[in-house]
Amino acid sequence: MKNVIVTGANKGIGFATVRAILEQHSNAQVLLGSRDTARGHTALENLCRINPDWARRLSLLPIDVASEESVMAALDSVQSTINAPLYGLVNNAGIGLGSTDLREVLEVNTFGVKRVCDAFLPLLADGGRVVNVSSASAVHFVGQCTADRQAFFQNEAVEWSDIESLVAEVIAYQQAPRGWDDLGMDVDNAYGFSKACTTLYTLSLARKNPHLLINACTPGYIETDLTRPSAERQGVAPAELGMKSPEHGTLSIMHLLFGEPHGSGHYYGSDAKRSPLDRYRAPGSPEYRQRDDGLFAH
Ligand code: NAP
Repeated sequence: MKNVIVTGANKGIGFATVRAILEQHSNAQVLLGSRDTARGHTALENLCRINPDWARRLSLLPIDVASEESVMAALDSVQSTINAPLYGLVNNAGIGLGSTDLREVLEVNTFGVKRVCDAFLPLLADGGRVVNVSSASAVHFVGQCTADRQAFFQNEAVEWSDIESLVAEVIAYQQAPRGWDDLGMDVDNAYGFSKACTTLYTLSLARKNPHLLINACTPGYIETDLTRPSAERQGVAPAELGMKSPEHGTLSIMHLLFGEPHGSGHYYGSDAKRSPLDRYRAPGSPEYRQRDDGLFAH
């Protein structure tokens, strides 16, 4: 059995990912992460209604990624219930599209991913997979930064302490604003910044853990509780804005979890193809490749 944890899986893309794993991999056992036990149980019931056989391969993992205590309790519970090593970890929990509350957004989207990786990476088997669900918002964010900031956000040699220092710098700056371009990036874009930090952390984590396959991806523009308010604000149907179903949002995640990605420490588009970190690559366009000289080209 391949044991896989998916955080934030009681709804949206996380829920669809759990369903896809159960449907497509009969040798997979899924721990459905939910910060709210009742919402988690409802998700479990909904999945078992689709296929009662899934009950054997599905269990609830209460986990609030913003809480160290909750992540440690989840670790204890996994260690006491799972005999085999973990095969996969999907850091899917995320919040804050359109939010300006930098601390709150970072606590889940960036520090939450780090917190969960710190706890669970030691349980992963050699060749195990980590998929960090980032966003094209990170790419747009990086693309708007000054050249030196762009280089920072693509440098796999960056340490976690460097990311923490940048976060501290941005928070200090926000408390005494002087105009957004002073820091060379759009500090009001809390979501884009948090996801850019998460993608960068993924690169750095992969470099330090060559025995694992660790990658980041965007699920695409997907209709969920995260994105629906933006359609409502504009008075249009989500599909009119190009939003797809949560099932579509699992393509890249499933590829990075069970397929054969080009190694570790990369970012993938929603079509499960490698993509650059500083400019948007539309799904279906040529995959991004590394040249022999270390530079990148389409
Ligand atoms: P969603 O429907 O709002 O689902 C988000 C999930 O994260 C929910 O299960 C939520 O739980 C959970 N969550 C929030 N805070 C948490 C915490 N502190 N601890 C644990 N779980 C927490 O949104 P989604 O669109 O499926 O988003 C899934 C991931 O995809 C996110 O990382 C998001 O940033 C990313 N993404 C989405 C899109 C898109 O177009 N939808 C595009 C790019 C990236 P509750 O139900 O308890 O709130």
